[in-house]
Amino acid sequence: MDAHNHIGFRHGASQTGEELLQRMDAAGVDRACAFPFVEGVFDNDDVDRARAAAPDRIVPFLAVNPWQREEAVAEVHRRADKGYRGVKMHPTIHGYHLSDLGLVGPVLEAIRERELVVICHGASDLYNAPPEFARICRAYPEVPFLMAHSGTFWSHDQAVEVAAETPNLYLETARVPIFEVASSIRSLGPEKVVWGTDSPFVDYTFEFEKMERAAGSEDARQLVCGGNLARLLGMD
Ligand SMILES: [Zn+2]
Repeated sequence: MDAHNHIGFRHGASQTGEELLQRMDAAGVDRACAFPFVEGVFDNDDVDRARAAAPDRIVPFLAVNPWQREEAVAEVHRRADKGYRGVKMHPTIHGYHLSDLGLVGPVLEAIRERELVVICHGASDLYNAPPEFARICRAYPEVPFLMAHSGTFWSHDQAVEVAAETPNLYLETARVPIFEVASSIRSLGPEKVVWGTDSPFVDYTFEFEKMERAAGSEDARQLVCGGNLARLLGMD
């Protein structure tokens, strides 16, 4: 199961549910979490449309912008009522510190209440550097957080360090080079690493096949490529 896919349209990139399914089929992937592109005005209805293409294979996540305040909280509840399983956050694009509890607190409380998983961009800058994850994970220990891109490049070592001391933090592998993926798995154990692709911005099959080389063993690959995420999402 792939933790990281964008659905819908933005300048320079687009993906429909059918296109995602084609990529999954070509690589041999059974399920994928999908959420909108998050730039500008995004529409979680794009996920409903994609999900209609294969309800048992596309796992719906919503995107939230905490600056939308009450509306963001209401959207979490609305989508949870419709069976959404997780939430995508992007502090760099939306302009906030992940651990700004005054801003993100109400959204995180709704996420905790509805038992959703968070996948959050974790690579670019101080808005989403590893210490921001440490702080938000401590404030919401019941909520599993996936750090997309594992802090790559410059914060990868720090991401591993923070994940080691933070029980509800997992490193996600989208567009992370094999050396860093392998060192995450070696340092933390395969239970703490979750596979994602970031389609459509990738060679989908390559992102899947790199895991076989990075994981070190078939048991580790099974956990990283779906077992861990299924456990976090309460799926079998
Ligand atoms: Zn992405």
